[in-house]
Amino acid sequence: MRHVETIVVGGGPAGSSCAGELVRAGREVLVLDKARFPRLKLCAGWITQKVFADIDFTPEDYPHAINRLDIRTHVRGLPFAFRGLPTVGCNWSIRRTEFDAWLLERSGAEVVQHQVKNVTRDEGAGRYIIDDTFSCDNIVGAGGTTCPVRKALFAEERMKSRQIATLEKEFTYPRRADTCHLYFLLRGLEGYAWYVPKADGQVNIGIGGKARWFRNTGEKIHDHWRSFLADLVQQGLLDAETADGLKEAGHPYYLYTHDGAVRDGGAYVIGDSAGLATVDLGEGLGPAIESGILAAHDILGTATYDKAALTKYSFGGLAQWIMRRTVGRYHTRGRA
Ligand SMILES: Cc1cc2nc3c(=O)[nH]c(=O)nc-3n(C[C@H](O)[C@H](O)[C@H](O)COP(=O)(O)OP(=O)(O)OC[C@H]3O[C@@H](n4cnc5c(N)ncnc54)[C@H](O)[C@@H]3O)c2cc1C
Repeated sequence: MRHVETIVVGGGPAGSSCAGELVRAGREVLVLDKARFPRLKLCAGWITQKVFADIDFTPEDYPHAINRLDIRTHVRGLPFAFRGLPTVGCNWSIRRTEFDAWLLERSGAEVVQHQVKNVTRDEGAGRYIIDDTFSCDNIVGAGGTTCPVRKALFAEERMKSRQIATLEKEFTYPRRADTCHLYFLLRGLEGYAWYVPKADGQVNIGIGGKARWFRNTGEKIHDHWRSFLADLVQQGLLDAETADGLKEAGHPYYLYTHDGAVRDGGAYVIGDSAGLATVDLGEGLGPAIESGILAAHDILGTATYDKAALTKYSFGGLAQWIMRRTVGRYHTRGRA
């Protein structure tokens, strides 16, 4: 059995940020991921300036396709134009397949392709055992929504009411518009739909909403998807033939709640494994990277990994105030 000081399960943005921080501090770390990178990740690929600041990099130097977003926001059909969402600074779109592989390589960590199935704690030795193949002093669960570390070592405390259901499709569309469109409360949807232009003639179209809203109302996400495509055709953002041929896919993830442990002894959960996406826009990349870095500093003994320290809103200032008052159900109750 191979022993490593820290094993990170999952090499997405959360895992690679954590691993990179440990490598920079000269610590022994191994990343296990079931996929070979570059791998597909369903995501609109919208990232903020803060993400680049957190990874200590500039968008201008990013070596892959990147597009600065000019965002137009629509609320129940009323268009409001924002040049970048207020207070989150500039916004960019990247392709996750490229971004994640770049981040992981940049971390400098050793990566082994391995699908983690079984995680246990050897109380006597104070170690974590993975599939009778690896052991470690610290284990970091960065395996996304269905992370095996979370399942084995943490109670399921990500609240069902904060589960987001999604559908999306990313594809080449040479006639794509240059403007990014966000559509809130479309047909009452508790969530929003997006049209995110990318560099190299790509576009990502998607829809995300509270899973509980779909359950309670009996509305079907696939019906909303089809209606949204029809809207885009009507607005001239998509042609009917392309819309007919699109095959959508999606998976759930969780918005931030104050409740739930993210650390237990030498075990940590970060990113989607911890359920940390922002409560207003469901931005997961920023909190994934923040939590990865903070968990690494907890391991290094230079900070405490505490959920409360992470970004919980993408909107800020006036926009957040307006959201809370006009769209009350987006308001986070309690201490979140
Ligand atoms: C449709 C959709 C659109 C989104 N759009 C945006 C957006 O525009 N902007 C934004 O900020 N956020 C967006 N998000 C959220 C964002 O994608 C996630 O929050 C983010 O990817 C979380 O990163 P992560 O590193 O925690 O997990 P992931 O990126 O999911 O990485 C987890 C890794 O773990 C690996 N893994 C899983 N199970 C195992 C196992 N058993 N063994 C080994 N490895 C394993 C996987 O292969 C994967 O590489 C979107 C999400 C969805 C579903």
